[in-house]
Amino acid sequence: MSARRLLIFGPPGAGKGTQARRLADRLGVPQVSTGDMLRASVAADTEVGRRARAHMDAGELVPDEVVIGVTEERLEQRDAQQGFILDGFPRTVAQAEALDALLRKLNARLERCITISVGEDELVQRLLKRAHLERRSDDNEQAIRVRMAEYREKTAPLLDYYRAREVLAEVDGRGSVEEVAQRIEEAICA
Ligand code: AMP
Repeated sequence: MSARRLLIFGPPGAGKGTQARRLADRLGVPQVSTGDMLRASVAADTEVGRRARAHMDAGELVPDEVVIGVTEERLEQRDAQQGFILDGFPRTVAQAEALDALLRKLNARLERCITISVGEDELVQRLLKRAHLERRSDDNEQAIRVRMAEYREKTAPLLDYYRAREVLAEVDGRGSVEEVAQRIEEAICA
């Protein structure tokens, strides 16, 4: 089978992390989550972590150059050469352009960009529920509002970016994890 290079994006709370993990297991390629990598850097108190922490806690996007550096380093690793599921990257047009440049350098092509859509009211409900279950420092109401605004202003324009490249697949994010996973599989095979 050819390399699988997919990206999953959607608003905060749409379930992209859960779906990316499932898909990565199923396809046998690594899940590359910038959110997870940044949280690990914060926990380890590295230079990247120190630059990212305040932005993350406030619900703001971490500056492009920090996130692009982390992602490039990860995608150049050996286990990512046969494919990857990018989860939470890119989130800005500048990041999408950096990804294009990196893929050109690696002589690789993006197969599909899957976006999971869920209405805003349901997203806020899901995020507040998650705040009780996990203890993420950015799952308070104020940070959630900022993350939604960041998504609308900076990330949503990527829908047009990938639509124009004819790799976009929009998946309905309502229903159970299994139902959404099934729709994603169909979108990949289509
Ligand atoms: P996530 O786990 O994907 O929801 O990401 C959690 C937080 O990490 C976001 O609210 C941002 O502060 C930061 N983050 C993750 N990925 C990116 C990215 N691609 N660009 C900028 N900030 C990011």
